[in-house]
Amino acid sequence: MAAVEVKKLVKKYGSMDAVKGISFSISEGEIFGLIGPNGAGKTTTLRVLATLLSINGGSVTILGYDLNKEASEIRKLISYLPEDAGAYKNLSGRAYLQFIANFFDRKDVFAMVQKGIEITDLGARIDDRVDTYSKGMMRRLLVGRALMTNPKLAILDEPTSGLDVINAQEIRKLVKSTAQSGTTVLLSSHNMLEVEYLCDRIALIAEGNIIETGKPKTLMEKYQARNIEEVFVRTVPK
Ligand code: ATP
Repeated sequence: MAAVEVKKLVKKYGSMDAVKGISFSISEGEIFGLIGPNGAGKTTTLRVLATLLSINGGSVTILGYDLNKEASEIRKLISYLPEDAGAYKNLSGRAYLQFIANFFDRKDVFAMVQKGIEITDLGARIDDRVDTYSKGMMRRLLVGRALMTNPKLAILDEPTSGLDVINAQEIRKLVKSTAQSGTTVLLSSHNMLEVEYLCDRIALIAEGNIIETGKPKTLMEKYQARNIEEVFVRTVPK
């Protein structure tokens, strides 16, 4: 069974087609990357899969559940890191993770928070208020929040956006090890080195259409490109 099956997905905002009938599937345990220029429809696609937007056409199946009919089942199995997420600023990092963990009707809430704290790797700063965190620290807290629940599917919108080299590298390692322990990952990124390193397969999206899907290596061979950035430049309409 595919973890994600998207068929001819259409999403409109008013009369504007943001996503124009895209199809792709993701296998369990795969890291799948969506890349494309600004306004291509990446965030819209991720928000649809995170059950936050209704769709105007096509179908989406996640872990065997139909998005239109079984969104509440899907929500129990996924985790979504929005592109521009924030946390409650007057809580400490630890209190924020505890607050989120308490929403889950699970016996392992304590272990969940411990795992979140480990992922954030914020050391003693985990007990400082969130409004004292740098952008990178905030992102780490939110990645910890997204992955502490051991989701079956993690949907990560630009997980390393705004992070310095070292922090970004740590998040990438974390995403990779998360996938190795069985979580399927769908992410978007503007960092072509990142997708080349992380993703088993990528989909290149432009103007609401998928123009290429495949393994980074296969796409580089197809376009006789040295890297994914060259594939991007050669395939995306100017
Ligand atoms: P970026 O790389 O800049 O984050 P993206 O690929 O994630 O871009 P989306 O945010 O999905 O692109 O936007 C796709 C299209 O839908 C754009 O034309 C955008 O202006 C439009 N759009 C996105 N959100 C809304 C909204 N809430 N209302 C109206 N139009 C929207």
